[in-house]
Amino acid sequence: MSHHSLEVRDLTVSYRRIPAIHHLDFSVPCGQSVAVLGPNGAGKSTLLKAIAGLVDLESGGVLFHGKRMSGASQEFAYLPQREMVDWDFPTTVRGVVEMGRYLSLRWWKRFSTSDEAAVESALESMQLTPLQDRQISALSGGQQQRVFLARALAQEAHVLLLDEPFTGLDQPSMESLREVLRTLRSQGKLLLISHHDLSSVQDTFDRVILLNGELIADGPVKETFTRQNLERTYGMRVFSGLSHGLPI
Ligand code: ATP
Repeated sequence: MSHHSLEVRDLTVSYRRIPAIHHLDFSVPCGQSVAVLGPNGAGKSTLLKAIAGLVDLESGGVLFHGKRMSGASQEFAYLPQREMVDWDFPTTVRGVVEMGRYLSLRWWKRFSTSDEAAVESALESMQLTPLQDRQISALSGGQQQRVFLARALAQEAHVLLLDEPFTGLDQPSMESLREVLRTLRSQGKLLLISHHDLSSVQDTFDRVILLNGELIADGPVKETFTRQNLERTYGMRVFSGLSHGLPI
């Protein structure tokens, strides 16, 4: 297996002894955009949090570039679902993006010129420079997503774990988020994104991970995003509307 990949090995996470995801095994190469799909309660958020080191693992682990990860890492950035974030928290766009640098700062060190430069460049690449002094409460949903992505860029994270970033966005914001994600992927970032809208999977992602507590399938969209796999994941025949794009 290439070392330029994220590997999940025999991963089980339980809440109060009840497994939310169990014995997951898969690997994904860097520079790809990967949809994590599955019905409500399938364990999508749990998987992203487990990779980010934010929940205890019952068994198994995560390897990145061949190295075993433990706990939170600067290489990984987790963006929670929007409703989990307190958007009324009194801070500016720039303030949030600066937080991306604190992981790499030692407590005795000041914000240096290279920290400033990383923040400037992150704001610039997410087209947030004109909005940098704005309170985060005064942003649109699409702009809020870009603030979090800019924070991940300032952190210099390589793996971006995004929990339903498209939910609640209007069409133009979705398109601009897609564009931003394409740019990040072309920079070699690995994007793991929990997602609900099956009709946009083929246009948005390179690979899929189909999950329902256990791993149902994973692989390139073309081979894996099939009617049969979707029925095994969601357990019903609701995919006639997608039939034009789906392999049999
Ligand atoms: P959704 O699509 O609804 O966001 P999901 O696929 O992201 O769902 P998770 O949120 O990972 O699923 O939840 C997986 C299972 O773990 C569910 O049965 C959920 O009720 C349970 N669960 C999640 N978080 C906790 C928690 N903090 N304590 C107890 N059980 C939890």
